[in-house]
Amino acid sequence: MAWSFSKAFSGLFNRSEPITEDTWDDLEMALIGADFGPDLSDEMLTELRDQVERHSITDVKDLKQLLRDTIADRLAKFDPTLKLSDRPAVVLVAGVNGVGKTTTIGKFANYLGNFNRRVLVGAADTFRAAAVEQLNTWATRGGAAIVKPKQQGQDPASVAYETVQRGINEGFDVVVIDTAGRLQTKGGLMDELSKIKRVIEKLTPISEVLLVLDATTGQNGLAQAEAFIEHAGVTGLVLTKLDGSAKGGFVLNVQEKTGLPVKLVGQGEGISDLTGFTPHVFAQNLVD
Ligand code: GDP
Ligand code: MG
Repeated sequence: MAWSFSKAFSGLFNRSEPITEDTWDDLEMALIGADFGPDLSDEMLTELRDQVERHSITDVKDLKQLLRDTIADRLAKFDPTLKLSDRPAVVLVAGVNGVGKTTTIGKFANYLGNFNRRVLVGAADTFRAAAVEQLNTWATRGGAAIVKPKQQGQDPASVAYETVQRGINEGFDVVVIDTAGRLQTKGGLMDELSKIKRVIEKLTPISEVLLVLDATTGQNGLAQAEAFIEHAGVTGLVLTKLDGSAKGGFVLNVQEKTGLPVKLVGQGEGISDLTGFTPHVFAQNLVD
């Protein structure tokens, strides 16, 4: 996996040379540039200086390994495992418009298909006909069956209910519900999500509420996440658009800020451009 954000660090560590104050300045710039955020960057720099001193490390090359280990240790505090053992496992997908919910659902269905899971998706973003059609296209690509609204604008909660009901009746392994993400009606949106959850929980427990975040939006994306985390009972994060982003530090930043694990990572617009999150591989790629 070639993540372009490793570029932020590659120039920094590719020579064997003594660690100087310039090294620390460059490292700080690289961390901020990679979207670790000011707070986390500060914490990490303090931690690294401390270790460099304690272990009498003098070479930039050894600092590179230390940075990689620091990132890996911090990432390892979060469990990226998706809880999909219920039958069916019901997964609710939330997030603001344009972050990649609908495409992620298609990719997720494809990903689950690789593990021989039968997937049913529900089009609970019912307001725009185009949204239903887009999910239909992605569900087909991902090999999933779909429940659509009977008419445009049907109550999203009733579509979610019908989807889960069919999932139970027909023995699907995983039921994934797409939702709307209009930001201008945030209050209404949170009410709608709560209602969808309540209605589903009349039938079966919800296994995962995944909040999709666009990795290219940085701190802005974090602000958006707050309302969902407060009101929607989010169990995990999906980070999309990491392919076009030089900001892989966002992954760690977002976990530490929200206290929620990243469970899936999207890296492109193709059907197979979604993977689970493997912390040590990520740390390795970030500082390679
Ligand atoms: P939604 O409004 O949250 O349902 O977002 P969509 O699924 O409609 O996606 C919005 C746009 O983001 C589309 O053009 C997608 O192709 C694009 N997109 C989604 N995920 C990724 C990704 O991982 N990488 C890239 N480059 N684009 C993505
Ligand atoms: Mg959508």
